[in-house]
Amino acid sequence: MTTRVFGIPMSLRFRGQTAREGVLLRGPAGWGEFSPFPEYGPAECARWLACAREAAFEGWPDPVRSTIPVNATIPAVPAARAFELAKASGCGTAKIKVAERGQDFAADLARVEAVRDALGPDGKIRVDANGGWDVDEAVLRLKELDRFTLEYAEQPCPSLDELAQVRRRVDVPIAADESIRKAEDPLRVRAAEAADIAVVKVQPLGGVRAALRVVEACGLPAVVSSAVETSVGLAAGLALAAALPELPYACGLGTMSLLTGDVVADSLTPVAGAIAVRRPEVDEAALARFEIESPEWVRRMEEAAACLAR
Ligand SMILES: [Mg+2]
Repeated sequence: MTTRVFGIPMSLRFRGQTAREGVLLRGPAGWGEFSPFPEYGPAECARWLACAREAAFEGWPDPVRSTIPVNATIPAVPAARAFELAKASGCGTAKIKVAERGQDFAADLARVEAVRDALGPDGKIRVDANGGWDVDEAVLRLKELDRFTLEYAEQPCPSLDELAQVRRRVDVPIAADESIRKAEDPLRVRAAEAADIAVVKVQPLGGVRAALRVVEACGLPAVVSSAVETSVGLAAGLALAAALPELPYACGLGTMSLLTGDVVADSLTPVAGAIAVRRPEVDEAALARFEIESPEWVRRMEEAAACLAR
């Protein structure tokens, strides 16, 4: 098995980091990506490694669709900029960041209105509060924002119990994102009746097959999101979105623009709001630009492997 460590600068700071790092591993089935976030310990990382190994040694289940619609992501920018980003994206669906610390609600309202103007009445608009509201605030805000017709609201509050309370008090469908990070989480979401939609990421759930089982057990429609991977990691998310029996919503896989480069020559970037289902090969010249020496990553992978073997 070949392993190569990469570090790619990001175009914006993400989770407090300025570069996205990880390990690429090559097996008989192709390349896999192991890129858990820095704060994750070995037990958590073991699932990310299982995903990379599935890609490298097994490959993925057959797709049931050939293109995956993706959403544009609109950060907490001023309304005029939000309008431009939504227009330029070519996407029919936009996810808008709301409840940003240090901003007032008028900014959220103006941003959502601008994106509605940009996408027109047929566009779909979802908001993501990243758990930034309490229950009463979420109920009030979502009722107001729904004047621009929301497809759903992602993680309005931090806890499952709060999501369940909000869900009972608003008409806007609720999606759980931060509440789903481990394989057992979707079942908790369902038990708490906390959400209408499950946002799932393939690496933290342990690979395409594991994520398919989780989604089935959870019984909610799923939106596949990336963990801001290279095109090698994104291909696994794409394979999950392609293999899900139902895919009623655009996915959060259009994230290549958040990285300043890639390890393949033909990146999984969206065209006209969708990504064609395929699996690009690592390009040696592309990888050479971002390859790093990192005993730390070798150690993280060994520790995750030890957890998997237990
Ligand atoms: Mg989210």
